[in-house]
Amino acid sequence: MAPYPNLFRPLDLGHVTLRNRVLMGSMHTGLEELGDFDRVAAFYAERARGGVALMVTGGMAPNREGGVLPGAAGLFTEADIANHARVTQAVRDEGGRIAMQILHAGRYAYTTECVAPSPVKSPISPFSPAELDEAGIEKQIADIATAAARAREAGYDGVEVMGSEGYFLNQFLVTHTNKRTDRWGGSYENRMRLPIEVVQRVRAAVGTDFIVIYRLSMIDLVPNGSTWDEVVTLARAVEEAGASVLNTGIGWHEARVPTIATSVPRRAFTWVTKKLMGAVSIPVITSNRINTPEVAEAVLAEGCADMVSMARPFLADADFVAKARAGESETIAPCIACNQACLDHTFEMKVATCFVNPRASHETELIVTPAEAPKRIAVVGAGPAGISAAMTAAERGHDVTLFERASEIGGQLNMAKIVPGKEEFFGLLDYYRTMLDRLAVRLELSREVGADGLEGFDEIVVATGVRPRDPEIPVENGAHVVSYIDILTGREEAGERVAVVGAGGIGFDVSEFLTHQGESASEHLHLWLEEWGVSDPSLHRSGLRPEGPKPAPSPRSVTLLQRKSERPGKRLGKTTGWIHRSSLQMKGVKMFGGVTYEAVSKEGLRVTRQDGSREVIPADTVVLCAGQEPERTLFEALKAAERPAHVIGGADIAAELDAKRAINQGVRLAARL
Ligand code: NAP
Ligand code: SF4
Repeated sequence: MAPYPNLFRPLDLGHVTLRNRVLMGSMHTGLEELGDFDRVAAFYAERARGGVALMVTGGMAPNREGGVLPGAAGLFTEADIANHARVTQAVRDEGGRIAMQILHAGRYAYTTECVAPSPVKSPISPFSPAELDEAGIEKQIADIATAAARAREAGYDGVEVMGSEGYFLNQFLVTHTNKRTDRWGGSYENRMRLPIEVVQRVRAAVGTDFIVIYRLSMIDLVPNGSTWDEVVTLARAVEEAGASVLNTGIGWHEARVPTIATSVPRRAFTWVTKKLMGAVSIPVITSNRINTPEVAEAVLAEGCADMVSMARPFLADADFVAKARAGESETIAPCIACNQACLDHTFEMKVATCFVNPRASHETELIVTPAEAPKRIAVVGAGPAGISAAMTAAERGHDVTLFERASEIGGQLNMAKIVPGKEEFFGLLDYYRTMLDRLAVRLELSREVGADGLEGFDEIVVATGVRPRDPEIPVENGAHVVSYIDILTGREEAGERVAVVGAGGIGFDVSEFLTHQGESASEHLHLWLEEWGVSDPSLHRSGLRPEGPKPAPSPRSVTLLQRKSERPGKRLGKTTGWIHRSSLQMKGVKMFGGVTYEAVSKEGLRVTRQDGSREVIPADTVVLCAGQEPERTLFEALKAAERPAHVIGGADIAAELDAKRAINQGVRLAARL
């Protein structure tokens, strides 16, 4: 039997049959806005070749006022249609299918021109939307229908009407954002008039032999969101209006509950989609934090949905489906749900790519080809930079030896995996071990090599990583001062009162570690739902418990400090920083900026505040998370011996050290060796 019988069952949509049950969900890559449609085509063609049944593009604006950002892409001109036709042709050539998402952002549009049912500003936007009048509403509906007709003209197999995540259509549905008293507001019948009218007009514009997916918010997670009865009523009405498939949306963008971050348990919301099964007769798709074929298969086998949507996993590995079909799931590069190179890039106005796969969105430029002449390559250091360089070099046919001083691969990733909510790093390390083995990289663990141990190699790649920075705070007798490595490796135990020096990524991680005990909520859905105050939407409107979040109490009192006066955590990931801050706040962690460290004593950490006042932060243990210094001893020795070497990752630049940059650098170097 095929390894995943439910996943590989075709799905009959009437006029077309999908080859399996996997949808690549919509992701904004930013490539369309660059205007390089060869690159857009290459991105989707590579994923079509990888066997996914149907892909949905990033959101295309139906008009200027509805675009997520000024200049958002859409099918506005004949030239746009011709450009998109190149993309759809490239997908067809690979045997794939693709639908275009139509995304009207409403009050989430980052522009002074934004429009909405009512002039209610969103907490995540600086702009107040203009209230639409009757003619304005008609224009929006007509523009969405026109976008659908143009999508068909451009050769798409369908459209997805974005009705969830708090965007325009969603804004009409709930009293939170719809205060109207005309036929578009008031009763639920009136509030759902716009989404229904949109679906009817889209269907009329595209004809019957065209896929129309409606993305429906099944759990809003904002105050005054939809009730479950309203969700079911809408789903039935959308089917009646002409949708061929329903896709699941989870939470509005302004919701204060994480919905896709790595700390969200896998398949955390498939139970919500399951509630809709049987209420409609068109196929239903589920989504959010499904990242392996095993999880996807279980979701389908348990009857949670007819089809599974995965988005970011297709950035991590374009061949996800083909590898699953071949029974090679352990060779799929896993999406660890970090958002660091995809969503964070989008919010920084950069092209979205992937932490574990820097080729994503760079298919035309970062090309890994067989080496002309195989070389003997030594890579020293099996952290993310070294592993990536070793794998890519070996993939190209080079003879690679990877030296690692520790007894296991992974470097700093081994510390990340210990932090509650970062368990996905275990899977990433498993993947690396599998691939190093498959690619026949010679792995020399527990081997510290010097310059003289590297004779006979054609190329030497130094990826020796970092060592923790010593902030040189005077320590008095009897004080307990440890580094984050001591804590995360279990070499040292922290006392009940802890001061953490340094509020960067690692200071936050260590605080998270110190304020948890027992099971990780990320691995136990019921704990996680309780922690974030999520309930069954048929019990509580919008899926929010009236009593709010209920985190497990912290076993320690923790104070997190930095010298900068800015808000601690300000520089964490754009889309995940708020989760780390909220999570620590819920655990009672105190956070201060603007301190000068004076000394550590048995009583705690003596600091001077910005206003000149002195204070002792009571602490039994002080944990140093003061950043990193590059570990370049080997590189300097090679230089002294006039032996050419490449240096990558933290050993190259420790400031701004992060694994995303390290992996990218490793892959790019190895692609040209
Ligand atoms: P970091 O983010 O650069 O933070 C270092 C912290 O140490 C800062 O808060 C800094 O704040 C403080 N510091 C620097 N020099 C100091 C000194 N001489 N004395 C006292 N304090 C000092 O570095 P990191 O926390 O080690 O993290 C390393 C990298 O790993 C990060 O850049 C990040 O990319 C990655 N990472 C990311 C995550 C994530 O959640 N995305 C998690 C873990 C790690 P002040 O200078 O204001 O005191
Ligand atoms: Fe997944 Fe992180 Fe890659 Fe985004 S950057 S696709 S979240 S692994």
